[in-house]
Amino acid sequence: MGNRINELASQIAEKFRSSGYEVSVKDVYKRLKLLIDEFKVPENEAIRTVTNYFIKEFDVPRDQLVIAESPLIKIADIKSPGQWVSLKAKVVQLWDSSSPNVSQVGLIGDESGIIKFIIWAKANKPEVKEGKCYLFTNVVSDSFAGRMQVNINRNSRIEEIDEDIQLPPREIEVVGALIAIQQNSGLIRRCKICNRVLTKDVCPIHGKTESYDDLRVKGVIDDGENYYEIILNEENIKRLTGIGLDEAKSIAMENLDRNSVLSELKSRLLGRYYKLRGTRGERYLIVSDIGVLNAELRKEVEKLLEGV
Ligand SMILES: [Zn+2]
Repeated sequence: MGNRINELASQIAEKFRSSGYEVSVKDVYKRLKLLIDEFKVPENEAIRTVTNYFIKEFDVPRDQLVIAESPLIKIADIKSPGQWVSLKAKVVQLWDSSSPNVSQVGLIGDESGIIKFIIWAKANKPEVKEGKCYLFTNVVSDSFAGRMQVNINRNSRIEEIDEDIQLPPREIEVVGALIAIQQNSGLIRRCKICNRVLTKDVCPIHGKTESYDDLRVKGVIDDGENYYEIILNEENIKRLTGIGLDEAKSIAMENLDRNSVLSELKSRLLGRYYKLRGTRGERYLIVSDIGVLNAELRKEVEKLLEGV
């Protein structure tokens, strides 16, 4: 450990020296050692803290020194909390934030994976937009309820980049629990011209238009590591619940309420475990095949989900 710290100290001192500032290796070493050995601060963060200390101490103009940036890595390489990293990623989706401390929360992704991100309100960053790509510099990994996430704080930077970052392979298999079903699920109406789902009998493109009935579920699968937003079509739903379009219409008629189909589907589908295969779209996993999980596999997943 001592050697490693020594090596890091020399690197930091050298960086200052090459910018024309004489920083003693011994001073750097003392501070690094304290942070890493005594306070158990992760290496990357210790390097940055010490570098920042000497920047202040010598009043070095920020642009004159190549500050120790966190390494640019892929999302799949984020394995433990407390890693300071930089990521090139696309904002996959934004969630509603329930806390005043959080400016934005959602998912970002690159070719290797998708991860939850939080931009703290105190970070004072410009807002990111869904579908846009950014270079996130100096963000820190964290784990919450057993899942990795990245936090964007005052030390981080966000720059929009003119690159289209591909998300992970499209065809994937997931094993997990269905933890939520969205409101616009169940017996829905689609526009006859464009097949879009009507909201209050209105197509977002064609306005009041002729429509037809369809059955679908938009939900969230949790596999203990990631969340997947999924879409189930009529065939999937019928296979799992026995309720197809005809049955759904009967349920709606009996209850004089189309929403009763959604309640019925929720009670039959929610909280259960599934094995499914699907194609990843920009946002949703379009399910091609889904089955209820057998008891053995299910226990394993349950363990995973409780795990931490
Ligand atoms: Zn339409």
